[in-house]
Amino acid sequence: MKSSNFRIVPLATEIALTARRTAVSGAPDHVIVVANSPNGFPCRHCLRWARPGERMILFPYAAIPAGHPYWESGPIFVHAEPCERYGATDEYPADFRKGRVMRAYNINYDMIDAEVVNGSAPEAIIEKLLQKPETAFVDARSVTHGCYTFRIQRL
Ligand SMILES: [Zn+2]
Repeated sequence: MKSSNFRIVPLATEIALTARRTAVSGAPDHVIVVANSPNGFPCRHCLRWARPGERMILFPYAAIPAGHPYWESGPIFVHAEPCERYGATDEYPADFRKGRVMRAYNINYDMIDAEVVNGSAPEAIIEKLLQKPETAFVDARSVTHGCYTFRIQRL
């Protein structure tokens, strides 16, 4: 594995813990669902597909904060049970090599470019987007559902 010039940023553990507490409290926008397919329930904390039968929390997350034109809040999953935050931050997560779009943003959270991972290596697209001096970070999202998956920053 060649060393990368980027760092994978999974969902913060604090956000996953808050989502678990909020779901237990019965909040209507934090729903517990049971994964019923092998590639439909990506956990943003451990960056794995949930196995069928695993309980997941579905809740809204603002990957792009309010107060910006590209502000965006959307549904994400985390495991309902404690899981280990993705730790191989210098490696692109193996479960998400397909079906993602890479969106580049500048420091003001404006989207400046986007490219679908379509058979090519996601690392090559990430490196190309990060070569633009104005790129502040890249977000990986579902190409079909649009949901935020994880962030990528320069090393
Ligand atoms: Zn997980």
